[in-house]
Amino acid sequence: NISEYKKKTKTSAKLFAKSARLHVNGVSHNIRFYEPYPFVVKSSKGTKLVDVDNNKYTDYWMGHWSLIFGHGQKNVKDALQKQIEKSWMYGTVNEQTIKLSELISKAVPVAEKIRYVTSGTEATMYAVRLARSVTGKNIIAKIDGGWHGYTSDLLKSVNWPFTESESSGVVNEEKIVSIPYNDLENSLKILKKYSKDLAGVIIEPVLGGGGCIPATQDYLKGIEEFVHKNNSLFILDEIVTGFRFRYGCLYPTMKLNPDIVTLGKIVGGGMAIGVMCGKKEIMEQADTRGKKKSERSYVGGGTFSANPASMTSGYATLSLLKSKKSTYSKLNSLGEFARKEIGRAFDGKVAITGKGSLFMTHFLKDGITEITNSADAAKCDSKMLAKYHFKMIAQDGIFFLPGKLGAISDAHTKEDIKKMIKASEEF
Ligand code: PMP
Repeated sequence: NISEYKKKTKTSAKLFAKSARLHVNGVSHNIRFYEPYPFVVKSSKGTKLVDVDNNKYTDYWMGHWSLIFGHGQKNVKDALQKQIEKSWMYGTVNEQTIKLSELISKAVPVAEKIRYVTSGTEATMYAVRLARSVTGKNIIAKIDGGWHGYTSDLLKSVNWPFTESESSGVVNEEKIVSIPYNDLENSLKILKKYSKDLAGVIIEPVLGGGGCIPATQDYLKGIEEFVHKNNSLFILDEIVTGFRFRYGCLYPTMKLNPDIVTLGKIVGGGMAIGVMCGKKEIMEQADTRGKKKSERSYVGGGTFSANPASMTSGYATLSLLKSKKSTYSKLNSLGEFARKEIGRAFDGKVAITGKGSLFMTHFLKDGITEITNSADAAKCDSKMLAKYHFKMIAQDGIFFLPGKLGAISDAHTKEDIKKMIKASEEF
């Protein structure tokens, strides 16, 4: 596969050599690198990425899962072009922001107050700061394998064995505590030890980077109850799950009552965004007016926050989702089909996790038969997964970021999924 890949990506090889001289690891996000070198993209449309050698790939990475309608969707593109004609940067209050917020606040009941930033990383960083500020406590609990972006506040326990920080240079690591996903009894045991100083717990209702694993309702409910009894905050990171499975967040379907919710990806329609929203009395802690310096909490903001381009592309995307709710039944059933058929193609040697239009293949080994948390996922054969994905890139014109989960978009058809299944069978 590698020689086949090299043969068809000669221009990419040259350009990537240049990229490697200019950029750390050759990339601007570590996970974008894979061996021998990633192909270099020149354009994208619908389901397709086109590389500089004119190879076309049916994309299941979909802009870090931000493109629910696929690449270059017409309504979003038209709205952006119109906006760009007017301007792409005001640095002041603008109507586009208000329009997007009206949609979000109607669709996400807890979004009584909203703040925008330009990445999910910033949204979770601010969510954690706000929790500390509101409660006057310091410890934040996160999940073993939970990923909330590169914020120093949450960079611990991302990868197996979930004990270390992902980076040197991070201070106050002892203020981050980690709990096992979908294991209420052991999670509560840990939380009880820290309950006096527990500012909040942050959880993804479907672990994304940690293995595409849905949480059980009992688990989330149990954590929420404990957190609220201890006057701590329940923070749900719906940056991946928000507007992915339905028009709105996942939490109302699980009858949860979060204090703060973070959003990103889909709500920016493929432009840079991060959203922090939550209950009015909590979010208003960040209202600095009339407060002494020691009581202020600075949350949200930045040069590019609520820029008209991101707001416009987010608004166009949510408007289209709102008017075309059938998108979700299509996406969810394509996802179900993919999970079932990939499982069949691998004849019981894999577990397929996911929900709705998200799915991930885990090559089982070491007696693991079921994936309920990141520890199970970490014990699977990740090298085999990367090989499987690379084979599809090199031979079948199908793109997954090697080793990562896939996201189906509205641009994909059942035929696309069937091609992916056929490629899986061959592997
Ligand atoms: N939270 C979750 C659940 C994520 O999946 C991500 C990104 N993959 C982030 C936060 C960080 O978002 P961003 O990459 O926009 O900083």
